Amino acid sequence: MNKTLYERAKKHMPGGVNSPVRSCRAVGRIPKFIKSTKGAYLTDVCGNEMIDYVCSFGPGILGHAHPAVIEKVKAACDEGLTYGAPTEREVQMAELLAELVPSMEVSRLVSSGTEAVMSAVRVARGFTGRDKIIKFRGCYHGHSDGLLVKAGSGALTASLPDSAGIPADITKNTLVAEYNNEESVKALFEANPGQIAAVIVEPVAANMGVVLPARGFLQFLRSMTKQYGALLIFDEVITGFRLSLGGAQEYFQVKPDLSAFGKIIGGGMPVGAYGGREEIMRLVAPDGPVYQAGTLSGNPVTTAAGLATLSILKEDTGIYERLEKRTAGFAGEIRDMAKGRVTVNQTGSLLSIFFTPDPVTDYPSALRSDTAAYADYYGFLLDRGIYVAPSQFEAMFVSDAHSGEDFARTLEVMREYFQAI
Ligand SMILES: *Cc1c(COP(=O)(O)O)cnc(C)c1O
Repeated sequence: MNKTLYERAKKHMPGGVNSPVRSCRAVGRIPKFIKSTKGAYLTDVCGNEMIDYVCSFGPGILGHAHPAVIEKVKAACDEGLTYGAPTEREVQMAELLAELVPSMEVSRLVSSGTEAVMSAVRVARGFTGRDKIIKFRGCYHGHSDGLLVKAGSGALTASLPDSAGIPADITKNTLVAEYNNEESVKALFEANPGQIAAVIVEPVAANMGVVLPARGFLQFLRSMTKQYGALLIFDEVITGFRLSLGGAQEYFQVKPDLSAFGKIIGGGMPVGAYGGREEIMRLVAPDGPVYQAGTLSGNPVTTAAGLATLSILKEDTGIYERLEKRTAGFAGEIRDMAKGRVTVNQTGSLLSIFFTPDPVTDYPSALRSDTAAYADYYGFLLDRGIYVAPSQFEAMFVSDAHSGEDFARTLEVMREYFQAI
């Protein structure tokens, strides 16, 4: 049944999927078509139940189909799906964002993380009147043209696009530095005086596998941007409401000028949000000259799902400590059983198992992982009902729905794997 669906899917859809990582090509498998979800579990169309550590690549911090969220969504649906006019829930969302993430003084809702980051960059350029931005190798910021750049041929030369269909003329304004490498950032600022609008960073990199910021790295970016009159943009699409209620900026106590959110704030619905310092955000139309719009922005059903999710996270005061403790314990067990054959990076409820014995602190060290070994491990786990990221370079997500038994079962399968190899 799964195979048949996949064959049908491939006929009319690129790779049979609506987002490439779902194709499972990096691990040499075909995608599992999912029928339904509940808590920590996915059920595929063949009726197999799996413990899910993908959590829709981030949104599912409460687990799937949380009853309180579903209830709010159903109630919102009864009132209609989209109005093209403002609603009270959007106001509540903007107020809640400002309360939970104090740097988000003024914010705008959009429909994806890609859109949020793209718009934040536009605002930063509008505010500074500068064209260039600095991003880091291995950080993902959605698929907008200017940000699909991972690797220049050296930090100081022009950056090449990472995808066909993107004019080099667009990515020439995207300068690429090395994550956790202060010198690479300094060099770009010095080589481009008065031209850098912003530095954009995933405060915890989670799209080259999970890579933690080195001590002081985020603070360094804060002082560097200040010194050169550039803005600091945190892409908190994964870290927002994941590491803490106030995101990575609260967790690491570094205040960016602008931030982008997505994933969790939509509670499972399509979403993005960007915002920051009032003085900057007042440039956004219709208050100012930076144009940005969206037919479905602030959608009533999405905001219902997002508000329900954020309210639960806010009211459950122990949730982040609980998630961190469980995930750290889980990561520790994996390290013990793997006996130096893998490197486990973990923070909060994010973790990655890199198939390399060496520390992973940036993009080059992440690339040293043995992706064939990862694919092997992936297949072993999947065949035993454990659903992990279909790529070495995607994070593993833990939700509040993962129970002690779920971890125990997962560790049992992993132990079997590490004993077998
Ligand atoms: C997922 C992600 C995005 C893009 O969000 P979409 O909703 O997929 O467009 C941007 N930045 C980061 C850090 C992400 O993980």
